Amino acid sequence: MSQISRRQFLQGGTLFAGTLALTACGGGASEDTSAQGADETVADQSATTDGAAGYTTVEAGKLTCISNLFFPPFESMNEQTGDPEGFDIDVSKSLAEHMGLEVNWLPSQDFDTLVPTIKNGGKADVAIAGMTITDKRKEEVDMSDPYVDSNQSIVIKSGTDETAETLDDAEKVIAVQSGTTGQEWAQENLPQATIKPLSTVIEAMSGVQTGLYNAVVCDLPVSKYQIKTSYTDLEVIEEIPTGEQYGIAVSKDNPGLLEAINSALAAMESDGSMAAIEAEWFGSAL
Ligand code: GLN
Repeated sequence: MSQISRRQFLQGGTLFAGTLALTACGGGASEDTSAQGADETVADQSATTDGAAGYTTVEAGKLTCISNLFFPPFESMNEQTGDPEGFDIDVSKSLAEHMGLEVNWLPSQDFDTLVPTIKNGGKADVAIAGMTITDKRKEEVDMSDPYVDSNQSIVIKSGTDETAETLDDAEKVIAVQSGTTGQEWAQENLPQATIKPLSTVIEAMSGVQTGLYNAVVCDLPVSKYQIKTSYTDLEVIEEIPTGEQYGIAVSKDNPGLLEAINSALAAMESDGSMAAIEAEWFGSAL
């Protein structure tokens, strides 16, 4: 079952092959908002947990968010304050603002626990986590409209001369973040190698740096950012055009919240909020 979904998902992705590593979805395109009734719906969200807003939140007046906060530049913790920061954090703030809510971030948790937490309900309203929209996840939770496009990458230590071919070997260890599309890609495309699921991409990259692992497979925008800012002795040897799109996970029991999130995302595209966040974290609108 999951193999079929994955293949369908990856095949679907080839539509996006060759596009930029990270591009905003529907940015500036007016057709995105046409079917949404965005302005009207967003204005309605000033009420919070009662029926007037059409959805409930775990804490009144707040959009409570969860993520794995070791995925820069989408989410990380400020070194001084320990507060969450990043592209997704700014998206959450803007979403909350558009919905007339305050934003509330819970402590970091493992990526592979995010979908179950949202599915179980009661703890958080949304997972905003650079999370790829997949058929498998959509069986468990609802996913919002896409807000970022992304691809996979293979990262090695510069000078080790590994290639996708040499890595597909029983002697080689490929680090991935547990429960991610990078893990799925590695398992499917490097079947001879040992795949090592870890809690964070940071742990995976550090392990490649120290020679513990031969490579990391993870989202391209993250590997590019990390190599530029911290892991300058690593390099991307292959960009894999999986054509993934990030969405926000919402409980299937809260369809009104999904609708409100989609309306707010559409409003953020049309009023320039999303472009401003892209400029802040990636230098320019994507
Ligand atoms: N986009 C990837 C996925 O959804 C990785 C996300 C992450 O590690 N935060 O699986």
